[in-house]
Amino acid sequence: MDFSHSERVQGLRERLLRFMRDEIVPAEPVYAAQLAGGSDWRAWRQPAVMETLKAKAREAGLWNLFLPEAEFGPGLSNVEYAPLAEIMGHSFIAPEVFNCNAPDTGNMEVLVRYGTPAQRERWLQPLLDGRIRSAFCMTEPDVASSDATNMRATARLEGDEVVLDGRKWWSTGIGHPHCRFAIFMGMGVPDAPPHQRHTMVICPLDAPGVRVERMLPVFHDYDEPSGHGEVSFTNVRLPADHIVLGSGRGFEIAQGRLGPGRIHHCMRAIGAAERALSLLCARASSRTAFGKPLAELGGNADVVADLRIAIEQARLLTLKAAWLIDTEGVKAAMSEISQIKVVAPMVAQQAADAAMQVHGGAGVSDDFPLAALYAYARVLRLADGPDEVHRALVAKLEFKAQAKARA
Ligand SMILES: Cc1cc2nc3c(=O)[nH]c(=O)nc-3n(C[C@H](O)[C@H](O)[C@H](O)COP(=O)(O)OP(=O)(O)OC[C@H]3O[C@@H](n4cnc5c(N)ncnc54)[C@H](O)[C@@H]3O)c2cc1C
Repeated sequence: MDFSHSERVQGLRERLLRFMRDEIVPAEPVYAAQLAGGSDWRAWRQPAVMETLKAKAREAGLWNLFLPEAEFGPGLSNVEYAPLAEIMGHSFIAPEVFNCNAPDTGNMEVLVRYGTPAQRERWLQPLLDGRIRSAFCMTEPDVASSDATNMRATARLEGDEVVLDGRKWWSTGIGHPHCRFAIFMGMGVPDAPPHQRHTMVICPLDAPGVRVERMLPVFHDYDEPSGHGEVSFTNVRLPADHIVLGSGRGFEIAQGRLGPGRIHHCMRAIGAAERALSLLCARASSRTAFGKPLAELGGNADVVADLRIAIEQARLLTLKAAWLIDTEGVKAAMSEISQIKVVAPMVAQQAADAAMQVHGGAGVSDDFPLAALYAYARVLRLADGPDEVHRALVAKLEFKAQAKARA
């Protein structure tokens, strides 16, 4: 395995690092000040500085870096994209600046791979241009959605229409003032085998019957202006050409949707862990207690060493998973993908937790991004699939491989 940066990636890395330092980090407080700052999501607006940054990033060629298809950007492999996504993980606002933010990235992957020419023109192109945003509506309040075959919402075909009914929640991005559509997943072929029952449908948010009921706070924060919505779909009638790929083919798409994009969150989590560690070290070196820098007190040096070791391990596992996806495909990488989904958010959470501790009271305030980094990492242990579900897959594949080796 070779994880060294190609010349092209080295160049992109340098430009990205410069952009982060010169444009994004100084803009973070400006972005925060430009948020509407309320729980009434209808009043949320896109901070003007985000649009300025997006225009500059696009101009600089730092745009749509996540798509492996050369038609839409530099066409990077997963191993090439990983160090760039890691850099973006240092800042909450960075992924959107480079048009590399979830869930738009997953939705763009769906439309690139499965969209009809008309769907691509109407929905993909404005997403690629960063003119609109989108949501992905799978999880439901009434069923354990970590088992996606539980989904009860329906997407019934009636003549030349598809009719959506049901309730979804944790629809990230649906509060964004630029959000124009959601990819809705619902039961379309109830009598088919479990993984051939569900259908993905492009649902414009202004379709009659779509209602955002509320935004869900995450650790008391609404993640303005994207938000996480609870959304009801009541007799939403759409032309059948809004179906993606075909009725009952939702899981087939989900495999592809989460294909190359499966580990983007992990790559960014490594960046979040690095930011927490660098804040920890700066604080521990500059603040004194009991006559010594905090760095020299108690077990703080061990804390730093253990975090460095954990981050290096997590990065190598991320790169191994990326390399396997690139060279042998998602199927061959299933165990490593699940392994890193357990490890990366955990390491980011540990790093944020340790950095908060070294910062004392300041660590849990909003004067530093640590509380937000902690929440981000903690949430990822659910939002990208619960840890236990990933562990279950690792164990299943391990038993299978061991049985094969014994046979
Ligand atoms: C901030 C945030 C953003 C999100 N964004 C989106 C989005 O944009 N679109 C979307 O559709 N969904 C989104 N989700 C939903 C997320 O994907 C689900 O919360 C997740 O899949 C778990 O489903 P659930 O909440 O129904 O938990 P449940 O399925 O009820 O599971 C609860 C718990 O049961 C345990 N459990 C489950 N399976 C196993 C197992 N095999 N072994 C052992 N224990 C197990 C785990 O501890 C798990 O956490 C988001 C969630 C959050 C918190």
